[in-house]
Amino acid sequence: MRQYDIVILGSGESGTGAAVLAKTKGLNVFVSDLGRINDKYKNVLLNHDIPFEEGKHSKDQILGANTIVKSPGIPDNVALVQEAINIKVPVISELEFAYRYTNAKLVCITGSNGKTTTTLLTHHICKKAGLNAGLAGNVGNSFAWQVAKNKHDIYILEVSSFQLDGMFEFKADIAVLLNITPDHLDRYNNSFSKYADSKFRIIQNQKAEDAFIYCADDTTIIREIQKRNIKSKKYPFSINEIIDGEGAWLENNQIIINIKSNRLIMTMEMLALQGKHNIYNSMASSVASKLIDIRKETIKASLSDFQNIEHRLEVVANVMGIEFINDSKATNINSTWYALESMQRKVIWIVGGLDKGNDYSHLMNLVRDKVKAIICLGVDNKKIFNAFADLPITMVETKSMKEAVRYAIYLGEKDDIALLSPACASFDLFENYIDRGNQFKEAVKEL
Ligand code: ADP
Repeated sequence: MRQYDIVILGSGESGTGAAVLAKTKGLNVFVSDLGRINDKYKNVLLNHDIPFEEGKHSKDQILGANTIVKSPGIPDNVALVQEAINIKVPVISELEFAYRYTNAKLVCITGSNGKTTTTLLTHHICKKAGLNAGLAGNVGNSFAWQVAKNKHDIYILEVSSFQLDGMFEFKADIAVLLNITPDHLDRYNNSFSKYADSKFRIIQNQKAEDAFIYCADDTTIIREIQKRNIKSKKYPFSINEIIDGEGAWLENNQIIINIKSNRLIMTMEMLALQGKHNIYNSMASSVASKLIDIRKETIKASLSDFQNIEHRLEVVANVMGIEFINDSKATNINSTWYALESMQRKVIWIVGGLDKGNDYSHLMNLVRDKVKAIICLGVDNKKIFNAFADLPITMVETKSMKEAVRYAIYLGEKDDIALLSPACASFDLFENYIDRGNQFKEAVKEL
């Protein structure tokens, strides 16, 4: 048996990146994946001469490691991980591991919703400002891979709660917390407070010179802040109240970003990304960008010319006067709430999939006001039927995207919106949310 410096569990984007970084740093590394490793990643391992196994976990090899880097997809409660923790082998995430090998400035973005949008938007602003900025976390190439190969001066990182759970020494120079609403509770013993604790690890180790940007309209965030002794400088953003000091807010329908007594002012119409949720995302990105001294003009121009990303309130086509919108990435109640809230016309709502413990009552008022028909798309739609049974709304059940889209045409009229905003995970009928969104777009194009 051999003692490895590092064993990597899971060889997807983050695991393979971590393995390459470990190898580059001269560490003795082994990769173990219980499933089949994608050919793309297998070739990377072979090309870097990194030993690996697939279809199994060799317990002795793994538990003999000095450190384990675990893929965020593997829950903490699997037996092997528990055993490693019990015998005091540190189990860390890829972001934690890569952090040890870089001095770059780190802007780290987390929240239940809006992470990818805000990360891409902030990266877009940095690029436009001419910075040597890397984009990593849940988007693009892994952080570890880029630390090994690219050497950026600054990274904009999208950080999920699963990554945060394996982060210990990691410190964000600028931490952004967008919101905390129930999601993934299955991985947190159904405890919302455990999930909130995980999100708050985004500010762990921060010092007085670091920045914490957060949404002051989120009651959970405010409650948690009051409980904690936070060392970093706070920059709240809000659309409900005027911030007294540095931060961002709305005043006379204008967005104000106030940093170091210097104000950036822009109208909401100037934002490329529309909807209330995107005002929050734009505020968070702008505050972060001002803190890294990007010029006001560059920030404004970038917020105006940012290209919307696929599967997030993406306008697909207008068929017979009905506008089809793809919001397949809305996999929880809160993201669908913002989608419905931003709709200006009557909605035919395509909803459903794998339920993660949804409480549909949060959507009741919006559905009553805006939705004229509900098209359920999932293997089991009982919960949605029961939730909205008392409303005078047509409800139908479908088992394929094609069927759902045809129903939208059948039930809709000119000037309606057909919105796919499922509020659920996609794995019952689709590979993932991307597959679901792509099938939606194809089905619409075939109409
Ligand atoms: P994440 O990476 O956190 O999953 P995305 O930017 O991919 O977030 O957006 C996921 C879904 O949430 C989309 O449907 C999007 O329209 C919605 N959304 C985006 N930003 C926010 C926000 N600040 N609050 C609530 N919902 C949001």
